Amino acid sequence: MKVLERPSLKSLNTFGVEAAASLMLTIETEEDFLSLPTFNPHRDFVLGGGSNVLFVSDIPGTVYLNRITGKDIIAEHDGYVQLEVGAGENWHQLVRWSLDQGLSGLENLSLIPGLAGAAPIQNVGAYGVELSSVLELVTAWDWQNSTWVIFNQDECRFSYRDSYFKSVETDRYLITSLRLRLTRQFRPQLNYEGLREALSFTSVDQLSPKQVSDAVIRIRQQKLPDPAVTGNAGSFFKNPVVSADKAESLRSRFTGLPTWPVGGDRAKLSAAWMIDHCGWKGFQENGAAVSSQHALVIVNQGQTSGRHILQLSAKIADSVAQNFGLLLEPEIKIYTGPDRL
Ligand code: FAD
Ligand code: NAP
Repeated sequence: MKVLERPSLKSLNTFGVEAAASLMLTIETEEDFLSLPTFNPHRDFVLGGGSNVLFVSDIPGTVYLNRITGKDIIAEHDGYVQLEVGAGENWHQLVRWSLDQGLSGLENLSLIPGLAGAAPIQNVGAYGVELSSVLELVTAWDWQNSTWVIFNQDECRFSYRDSYFKSVETDRYLITSLRLRLTRQFRPQLNYEGLREALSFTSVDQLSPKQVSDAVIRIRQQKLPDPAVTGNAGSFFKNPVVSADKAESLRSRFTGLPTWPVGGDRAKLSAAWMIDHCGWKGFQENGAAVSSQHALVIVNQGQTSGRHILQLSAKIADSVAQNFGLLLEPEIKIYTGPDRL
């Protein structure tokens, strides 16, 4: 286990904001768990690739990095392949590696930043596919009982950008590996118009998973600010899910508001459209800005702080609440300090 005192977290969060911790412990083997100190959720923090977090304060305690890697095919039957993946694996490299093995299931999830261990936290999703469609098991270290726990798919309680780990037992588990179930029979998921259009030159039965992945990569590179160039954490807010009646009533008041049925008489609304409608796209204040490429993305123009980004996000949420009567919920994890949790 690597130990670093007083590390800067600036290069470890894709917003690129300044923050420090008292200590950083990098877990590299399973034996390292046996000598871990007690985890205090108010003072300590588990960090993956830092692409879905905002540090508004320093971390007074320890930052834990889980860097246990490994990706192995452990079984194959009836066209399905089970993969065991260490939490420290880079997500996008895992997706591309799976395609090189002739497997499909992850192609729509290409170019999502971060590490595999964080993927179950918000049930990562893109272009109509969520992690839950391929995940069988999650193995995690239970900080409370100092033991390993295995969660099956039902126990993970996945829903839209949410899971048991994100909203029920927040900060209780450190995810150490995932078991995925991929397939050798490719069934393209092309529900999203942008993706369908990008692939319209090829007939569906001739498409390969790699072509879908390449198209997703191209679209994302065109539409999203690259965190390596301009600090950001992707979508700041979740798309709100409301009753179908409420969605219909909003659509009749706001012509053009995109909505999608999500089952159970509920509908998802476009948060980006609402933010844009309130006039925020391109707005800048104190070095924080609403991306002019994508209204759901707040960017660091260079030197801003977590506090300024949080302040801008609060103004955006207030104006959407006033105009649409809806609460925008942050998608990202915001660390505001030990007293405010
Ligand atoms: P971090 O940001 O380090 O952590 C996120 C949360 O998970 C924190 O609460 C952290 O404490 C916790 N955590 C991290 N690792 C572990 C672990 N091993 N055990 C327990 N808890 C852990 N997300 C999507 O869903 N879909 C997208 O299409 C998408 N696109 C993005 C595009 C851009 C440009 C960016 C910057 C972000 C995007 N995201 C997207 C958000 C983000 O990439 C994902 O949520 C990703 O899974 C976060 O991984 P990470 O390793 O960076 O996690
Ligand atoms: P897009 O394709 O332009 O779509 C805009 C919004 O409409 C997205 O939020 C998406 O919802 C929704 N949408 C579009 N077609 C849909 C359909 N057929 N059914 C249901 N919902 C539909 O989106 P984008 O902003 O460029 O992003 C593309 C994909 O990458 C999306 O899935 C998005 O979630 C994902 N992404 C996520 C992040 C993040 O940080 N979480 C950042 C960038 C991109 P969903 O968001 O629910 O899919």
